[in-house]
Amino acid sequence: MISPKDRPRILLFTAKLGYQTRAFDAAAKKLGVELIFVTDRCHKLDDPWHDRAVPVRFEAPEEAAIAVMQEQSGQHVDGVLALGDRPTLAAAYVARGLGVPHNHPASVEACRSKLRLREVFRDAGLPTPWFRTVPLQAIPEPALMGLNYPCVLKPISLSASQGVVRVNNREEFLAGTRRLKRLLESAEIQATREPSLDRMIVEEYLPGREVAVEGLLKDGELRVLAIFDKPDPLEGPYFEETIYVTPSRLPAAEQNSIEKSFAEATRALGLAHGPVHGEFRLNERGVWPIEVAARPIGGLCARALRFQLENETEPIGLEELLLRHALDLPGWDAPRETRASGVLMIPVPNSGILEKLDGAEEARQVAGVTELEITARWHDYIAAWPEGSSYLGFLFARGESPEIVENALREGHVKLNFKLTPRLPVEHPVTGKV
Ligand code: ADP
Repeated sequence: MISPKDRPRILLFTAKLGYQTRAFDAAAKKLGVELIFVTDRCHKLDDPWHDRAVPVRFEAPEEAAIAVMQEQSGQHVDGVLALGDRPTLAAAYVARGLGVPHNHPASVEACRSKLRLREVFRDAGLPTPWFRTVPLQAIPEPALMGLNYPCVLKPISLSASQGVVRVNNREEFLAGTRRLKRLLESAEIQATREPSLDRMIVEEYLPGREVAVEGLLKDGELRVLAIFDKPDPLEGPYFEETIYVTPSRLPAAEQNSIEKSFAEATRALGLAHGPVHGEFRLNERGVWPIEVAARPIGGLCARALRFQLENETEPIGLEELLLRHALDLPGWDAPRETRASGVLMIPVPNSGILEKLDGAEEARQVAGVTELEITARWHDYIAAWPEGSSYLGFLFARGESPEIVENALREGHVKLNFKLTPRLPVEHPVTGKV
């Protein structure tokens, strides 16, 4: 029995409390690890076990790091993990300050900026679309910018494809830019205090198939945990995700090229330690890194990944694998289970108030479907892309082959019938604005 004072301690930086933090809790208990949450949501913690959660503001990562280090002074910290994009930088500063293996803050900062990411990839000689930044204050005349269409408009620091728009001509460019400007000026986005909300990136639209790749770095060496095919075409104008299925059905040579590109991209960024998530496009011109993030796959989607330890019958989740990795415990390199697995991020068909869902039970009954989780809040407004950034929920399937899994997800999705009612325009009592 390890005495409480000698238990390994891990700092978990997270902006969201929910499924994934609960899964970390369970894995930590199993491994006898003390988990200390660092979050800007302390007011939402109702679990007394976490009464020592450290409150921070992720938009001020250096300040957050000082607060955490003061709070932790005199205590040993064995690992640092970050979930979601926003907390990654504060986590990197803390790890550096405490001498815990992690990524350099500059590498993590580059991942947080779509502009810096492109610059790093271009300078490292990786396949990179043409790109430029464009101010949004006075929208420039596209005809004077020498753009080629189609191209993609993107915010610099948001995530989950929020605000990402494909445009095919001058009119679409102007309409898309106005829409993005409105989004970036909205109270909700301004409250994030993300940098560069007054500019966007315009870049070449890359045709082709897309994959997502989950990896784990140790001493700069990349281990690919899974390549997810995205079998739905992602051709815009907006880019919400839908289906992810692993293992990939791409030929082995293409999978090798993706792994090589991922390793080159992480090396170019200087990422060295911990979970990494990447998105890549493939076409006859090669493998194009679209994005690399210094964090694991988002929240619920992690449920699609399970790993098989040598001497255990039940597979373990990604959370346990990450704790084992952070503590250098055996099993951190366990392979993914052999069954095919997939998730459907349930897209929002139209913005509105979520009133009703029919067909949930029918979807759960579909052969191969393992779980349906509705994450959107009932009677709350949910925005479709490009303004939106969260899904209605998640549908999971497992099966003997990726085809079976994909079909189960499609069949399950068809059964789901969401009722979203449009929000009525309301006039502000003081400003009179609608
Ligand atoms: P985010 O970090 O918000 O997810 P990304 O840069 O990863 O933003 O873009 C989101 C999605 O938009 C990508 O997964 C891809 O489907 C699409 N996309 C982004 N850039 C391009 C591009 N240059 N060409 C084609 N599709 C793109």
